[in-house]
Formats: sequence, structure tokens, C-alpha cells
Amino acid sequence: MRETPSVTQRCTSDRRDGAPCTAQAGASGYCIGHAPGAQDARRKGGHAKSRAERAGALVRAMTAGELEERLRALEDGGGGKVSP
Ligand SMILES: [Zn+2]
Repeated sequence: MRETPSVTQRCTSDRRDGAPCTAQAGASGYCIGHAPGAQDARRKGGHAKSRAERAGALVRAMTAGELEERLRALEDGGGGKVSP
């Protein structure tokens, strides 16, 4: 059980619960969840979010019209009828 630095480097950041992050780190020394770019993206919506909150944000990003269109497309696809 020997560690092999630089090949399978562990993320040096901490998780939300304070425990050390054990995810595999990339070239930046952080995992994809803790990479500087990822933190920038997260800042937009405030603090780290749960998966459900992220999904909610995705839905919110869609306009009501887009949402309706998607729902309609789902219904059309289920019925096997797709009109141009
Ligand atoms: Zn990490």
C-alpha cells in the first residue's frame, strides 16, 4: 500500500463536511469538484449546492416556454407522433 504521488494524487481540499477530500486530483492538485474553475462556476449560485438544488437551477434556467416545449416533445415522443 504505497502512495504514488503525481500519478494518483489525492485532492488536497476539504469536503463540505470538513473531511479531507479523497477524490483523485487532476493537474491542478484538486479533484474536478475542487478545481479553481469549478469553484468559479459554483460561486454563481452561492455556496456549494446539493444535486437537487443544481437540478432546480437547471429548470429555472429554462424559460416557461422552453419547459412547455420539452414537456410537449416528451408527450409527442411517447405517442409516437412527431409533427414538424
Ligand atoms: Zn476534492
